[in-house]
Amino acid sequence: NLQERLGAILNNLTGRGALSEADVAAALREVRRALIEADVALDVVRSFTERVREKAVGAEVLKSVKPGQMVVKIVHDELVEMLGAEGETIDLNAPAPVVLMMVGLQGSGKTTTTGKIARRLSERQGKKVLMASLDTRRPAAQEQLRQIGEQVSVATLPIVAGQSPVDIAKRAVQAARLGGHDVVILDTAGRTHIDEPLMAEMADIKRVANPHEILLVADSLTGQDAVNLARSFDERVGITGLVLTRMDGDGRGGAALSMRAVTGKPIKLIGTGEKMDALEEFHPRRIADRILGMGDIVSLVEKAAETIDQEKAAAMAKKMQAGKFDLNDLAEQLQQMQKMGGMGGIMGLMPGMGKMKDQLAAAGLNDKTFARQIAIIRSMTPQERANPDILKNSRKKRIAAGSGTDAAQINKLLKMHRQMADMMKAMGGKGRKGGMMRGLM
Ligand code: GDP
Ligand code: MG
Repeated sequence: NLQERLGAILNNLTGRGALSEADVAAALREVRRALIEADVALDVVRSFTERVREKAVGAEVLKSVKPGQMVVKIVHDELVEMLGAEGETIDLNAPAPVVLMMVGLQGSGKTTTTGKIARRLSERQGKKVLMASLDTRRPAAQEQLRQIGEQVSVATLPIVAGQSPVDIAKRAVQAARLGGHDVVILDTAGRTHIDEPLMAEMADIKRVANPHEILLVADSLTGQDAVNLARSFDERVGITGLVLTRMDGDGRGGAALSMRAVTGKPIKLIGTGEKMDALEEFHPRRIADRILGMGDIVSLVEKAAETIDQEKAAAMAKKMQAGKFDLNDLAEQLQQMQKMGGMGGIMGLMPGMGKMKDQLAAAGLNDKTFARQIAIIRSMTPQERANPDILKNSRKKRIAAGSGTDAAQINKLLKMHRQMADMMKAMGGKGRKGGMMRGLM
């Protein structure tokens, strides 16, 4: 099985340091298989693995992690990124009545999802919702929605025989306006496959109803057709988001990635059952785990990264407590601060750091001076960095020349370092190094 095959491959890659082309290629072969087994469309698999290859080759392998495992983590992160943001919701930011239009193939779950969304909006957000079935093709379709409406206590548009979908859409919007509804949800008819009459009908409805959201409802078990499906609806009707149904089934959810990749539209909700409360927010991480099926490896790599951070932090804390915070450590901290978006970023992470921030600013540490300060430290010899006390005037002149600064700036840096070292020693003594270090690392 896949896990075993992967296990073997991953264990065979034992190189250290940066990931080589060969490491990445070997691991990606297995990843590609996992994606295909999860029903991700072939085109998407291809472009996705190419992106991963570019990111992975040359990437550092964490200590205690195998190259193959590192690649899996990179793949996972890329999947999460591609699946898109967490917490996308239905956008109701428009004048009432806000029109939502549900589109998709027959049996994809449009009518059920219409009921679920209506229930959620009315129960959780206190919205006054009206639902209307535009499915005139199946005789029982409008009755199905009416029953769902009763079940979730949401109004449905009265059924009038003989009207076209476009007529019903107009009537629904009109009724919602007159009835003071906040939201009107149009549940359209599907077909067993995409065809021109279906697309034309959707386009007509869109024209008369002017929907604020057009949600493509798709079965998460859709395989290679997912790309074609999403592309057709998006090109012809223009969707604003995706709802994936049957995520409670045993599918691996590859359709999510495929449809997201071709449309770039957010996955807004997922259906997880037949019941009216089986509607959930979309969590890219969970879906990524499911598509890749290698959650254990991902958490293993995350643990390893955490351990390394903790080891570094502990080592640094020890040095600080012993009053041995040298200029090498300062340079590392400055680089960290630069990475984290400057003082604002790092200080924001440290509780009660306002005072320290002021002190550091007074000592000359601010976002603009990071680069200069790092340059000064780089112009020092290792002995000077480890023991700044040996810095006399002649050495300072050399460093000033090397870093394009002057003696005054070097003195400022040295003063700041002394202040920081003192502060850290004091804080370490008070047993606050945990919180402090977490912030600093
Ligand atoms: P429509 O033709 O697109 O309107 O599809 P329906 O809403 O009528 O749903 C077709 C079938 O799928 C029904 O039996 C639903 O109960 C079922 N269904 C819809 N969404 C889900 C879901 O998220 N999970 C499961 N297990 N079944 C679902
Ligand atoms: Mg239906």
